[in-house]
Amino acid sequence: MKRNSTRGRIISLVPMGAVRADYLRSLAEAMREQFGLPVELTANQGRPVYALDAKRKQYNSQLIIRKLPQIAPAYALKILGVTDIDLFSPIFSYVFGEAQFHGRCAVVSTFRLHPNPESNPRPGCPPLLDRLEKEAIHELGHTFGLRHCPDPDCVMSYSVGVDCADRKFPYFCPSCRDLLLWHLATDIFLGA
Ligand SMILES: [Zn+2]
Ligand SMILES: [Zn+2]
Repeated sequence: MKRNSTRGRIISLVPMGAVRADYLRSLAEAMREQFGLPVELTANQGRPVYALDAKRKQYNSQLIIRKLPQIAPAYALKILGVTDIDLFSPIFSYVFGEAQFHGRCAVVSTFRLHPNPESNPRPGCPPLLDRLEKEAIHELGHTFGLRHCPDPDCVMSYSVGVDCADRKFPYFCPSCRDLLLWHLATDIFLGA
């Protein structure tokens, strides 16, 4: 059976709101490096007003995730929304991001990742971008079926706050990487 070699092999990056163009470029590069897939950027969709909860004055990340497939190209294997708004998930007061476990879509926001005086970014990398990259890799990791990792250095370790985000590295520990490669091969083969 002959398969279309490009179908289902890209990560689609969907900017929603005020996200710096140079951050999006760095993010795309980090995604490409970690997942070994080409990254395509869509047009900026603006802030997702449909997800705004008027009482909380925050945006429901699950509503955003549900809408992403209508925005990104149909052939995208994974879709990552990137925004600057305050995200919440019904059981949490806020989230850095959220993902469909072993699904197709994830979203991350810069809102809760802004620099604090104790931040400890990698040399040459501003704390906000550093954290954004890690949380983006983390959420996409979930879409590939990876769960939280007990290794505090691993990008799949759970970030309780920005300190945890600063503590971990922007890549997978050896066991998460093995699992990722396995899932990656399976997802691409199945055309997800
Ligand atoms: Zn997580
Ligand atoms: Zn790990």
